[in-house]
Amino acid sequence: MGPQEILLAEPRGFCAGVDRAIDIVEHALAKFGRPIYVRHEIVHNTYVVNDLKSKGAIFIEDLADVPPGATLIFSAHGVSKAVQDEAVARGFHVFDATCPLVSKVHMEVAKLAKEGYEFIMIGHKGHPEVEGTMGQLEAGIHLVEDVADVARVQPGQSERLAVVTQTTLSVDDAAEIMAAVKARFPLIRQPKQQDICYATQNRQDAVKIMSRDVDAVIVVGSPTSSNSNRLAELARKLGVPAYMVDSADELQAAWLEGKARVGLTAGASAPDVLVQEVMARIKSLGAVTVRKMDGIQETVKFPLPKGLKV
Ligand code: SF4
Repeated sequence: MGPQEILLAEPRGFCAGVDRAIDIVEHALAKFGRPIYVRHEIVHNTYVVNDLKSKGAIFIEDLADVPPGATLIFSAHGVSKAVQDEAVARGFHVFDATCPLVSKVHMEVAKLAKEGYEFIMIGHKGHPEVEGTMGQLEAGIHLVEDVADVARVQPGQSERLAVVTQTTLSVDDAAEIMAAVKARFPLIRQPKQQDICYATQNRQDAVKIMSRDVDAVIVVGSPTSSNSNRLAELARKLGVPAYMVDSADELQAAWLEGKARVGLTAGASAPDVLVQEVMARIKSLGAVTVRKMDGIQETVKFPLPKGLKV
């Protein structure tokens, strides 16, 4: 027997930072014409990237691939100081689509570094956001990925030490790592407000509530999306089978065999059009009703940079 009911997570999908980043590319294309260069995937979603490519965006990793005088946009994940400096040196017309909540972490790092602080950063090695935040300083910022790393990390001093995190971590894992950090460095300075962003927190909270009520969870999101991966991981930790799909055709009927209630959510970079397509696919397998969870209504909005406002 296939699924009977879909429980739709609330909130799910696009956050304010993703909305703004995509708007920046679209406004730049409208204002300056194609091509517009974007360093790294603007947000980690295949559909979004392909859509912008078709409109004239060119995605690059290395600034050497951008011609002189071109318009360049930094992705929502942020960039290191070295990349910023290189873009200025090469004379590009730059717009910064770094999420303001990531920029906030960058500013905190820069401010405290001037006061002589060293940093522990909790995050995933190789993620562009982590590279961007760690790259705000030339030295003195140490990455820990898990509790075992906390025991190993060797900062140069412990009197002026501060901790920052990636914005899209598992809330529960980050709390555990943070507790280990505080146990090892009791005087460490913590951010006034957690660095994990509201969108990550809200989507994980919704999956936690949803998981009590469903037999399987489908997360719409690309494999590179950190916050989408965390949603699937969380449902699995709560004992519910969870699957990530980048598009509706990836959803396998066998996953939902014998699962009466299916929870559906989407990472912060996954557009609603994909959620609707995945929902249609689950309906085609038998689901007749769709119930929307009660959940937080997000009202956060970030303005476009100067020079792109209409
Ligand atoms: S997931 Fe959070 S940090 Fe990332 S773009 Fe969205 S609001 Fe910003």
